[in-house]
Amino acid sequence: MEAVEGDITRIAVDAIVNAANSALAGGGGVDGAIHRAGGPEIMRELDELRRVTGGCPTGSAVATGAGRLPARFVFHSVGPIYRGGERGEPDLLASCYRTCLKLAEDRGLSSLSFPAISTGVYGYPIRPAAEIAVREVKAHLEKADASLQRVVFVLFSRSDYKVYARLLERLPSIHAE
Ligand code: ADP
Repeated sequence: MEAVEGDITRIAVDAIVNAANSALAGGGGVDGAIHRAGGPEIMRELDELRRVTGGCPTGSAVATGAGRLPARFVFHSVGPIYRGGERGEPDLLASCYRTCLKLAEDRGLSSLSFPAISTGVYGYPIRPAAEIAVREVKAHLEKADASLQRVVFVLFSRSDYKVYARLLERLPSIHAE
């Protein structure tokens, strides 16, 4: 597990996680950046998925190809909108991370990157969101049969990066950097 400050569309991994919305309709923030950098092919695949399934429920994720991005897949995960934290938001956010980790394992991938899901427009406070992200990824990587070898948290601001870096410092046994 590692944290880096930067733009998630520029870091080469097997799969990039997107913070999408349940309509799979594209949007601003990291979603907009992924579609801009990846090109129209990703939205074409999402259009088809939406036609078949109607969208993606909060707490889940769907996979597409990655277009021009330096990855093989994008996992579009729908985080909860934060409404104070008493409406199931922690479980829904944890479920986003678990679903993406499972999508990666189902495909036998070795590397995966995550943005800070729900912490932009959806308003989830960064600190508790980061704790959930690190907890879920740590639990996953500790499984003996995990195919994932490298999980990168890509933070768009210095302050978000510092929150993650501090949490990871406390996990020396699996902090590989
Ligand atoms: P949500 O609707 O799930 O809150 P946002 O895209 O609004 O999704 O924000 C999620 C996080 O992604 C925020 O911390 C935002 O700063 C960050 N972000 C925005 N653009 C990028 C990018 N290109 N790479 C990595 N993170 C990004």
